Amino acid sequence: MKTISLLGSTGSVGRNCLRVVEELPGEFRVVALAAGRNTAKLADQVGRFHPELVSVSTGEVSTELARRLENLPPSSRPEIVVGEEGLLRVATHPETDLVVSSIVGIAGLAPTCRAIESGKQIALANKEVLVVAGELVTELARRNGVQIIPVDSEHNAIHQCLRCGHAGEVARVILTASGGPFRGHSSEQLSRVTPEMALRHPTWKMGARITVDSATMMNKGLEILEARWLFDLDVGQISVWVHPQSIVHSLVEFVDGSMIAQLGITDMGQPLLYALNYPRRLPSPRPGLNLSQVAKLEFLLPDSENFPCLDLAYRAARQLGALPCALNAADEVAVEAFLQREISFAGIPRIVAKMMEQANAVAKFSSIAEVLEYDKSVRRETRRLIQKDFR
Ligand code: MG
Repeated sequence: MKTISLLGSTGSVGRNCLRVVEELPGEFRVVALAAGRNTAKLADQVGRFHPELVSVSTGEVSTELARRLENLPPSSRPEIVVGEEGLLRVATHPETDLVVSSIVGIAGLAPTCRAIESGKQIALANKEVLVVAGELVTELARRNGVQIIPVDSEHNAIHQCLRCGHAGEVARVILTASGGPFRGHSSEQLSRVTPEMALRHPTWKMGARITVDSATMMNKGLEILEARWLFDLDVGQISVWVHPQSIVHSLVEFVDGSMIAQLGITDMGQPLLYALNYPRRLPSPRPGLNLSQVAKLEFLLPDSENFPCLDLAYRAARQLGALPCALNAADEVAVEAFLQREISFAGIPRIVAKMMEQANAVAKFSSIAEVLEYDKSVRRETRRLIQKDFR
């Protein structure tokens, strides 16, 4: 039986992960959960999975959770820990084999690194970990003999396709993108996009930032960086195709011209099922893809003129240094400002480009602490830029 620690248990990836665990009785033991402040959801998870250790954001939240768990017999109440330190305890629980890293944002970076240092295998759902600190994190994983299995559907697909050949036989990988709700829109149409319009994603149900990032195509940009580090590729080996049906989750082209694709339904449960069980494959209790019902599969090149985030990410992936960190931090702040109606939809890439121009000074990060500090400073500067020039 595999023992699991889950970072971010009440978020959408965390809930899907526990669903997969529940559907495969006898395969997994959930030993530790980390969540933020959703104590109702977390108490329900504790009652169903009986973890030994649970981490929440603050002492106040911890008191609230303890109250909700009063009806459990004392022997099945977990130890409750809090804050940054609590996250690290969950990430490094001595009995854990596999850490599922699904805390959203840069808050996931430190606990994921600590899990790697303690030799835990990683199922990685958090994009920022590799986007902002890919070099440090992959080096750390190499040193500790840790495999990082991607949960992000595109990278999970590529991970599967790569099992058909050796690293030296790969010509390129092709990340597919749904194109978001504004595929085919002119710049004039894009100038009228509201937060409500951007939050409606055609094929995937996700959190607010990633949904807006899908609409600007920055999400695919971040995935270029993710792929670069996960599979040790040159940027020139990473292509993006728009594929509105979201059935082909990505492809690998080998040097002999063969293309291998992974297809499936749009359900986070599928990449999680693969990542949790890797290197085995276990039967899914859910219905799979009925390909004969899919009328057509289309593939188009992205419109990089109206969706400049893609080229910004390619630039960051080529130059590296602090650029990917600046790109990510500036984008998160800009998306938040867009959702608050402080800036326009087209303002998002303009702000990111501005912040990237200032990032050239840092050649390379030497520690996670340095990354976190730099991330903070970019966020501060981005807010200042928005107040000054964009309102
Ligand atoms: Mg994805």
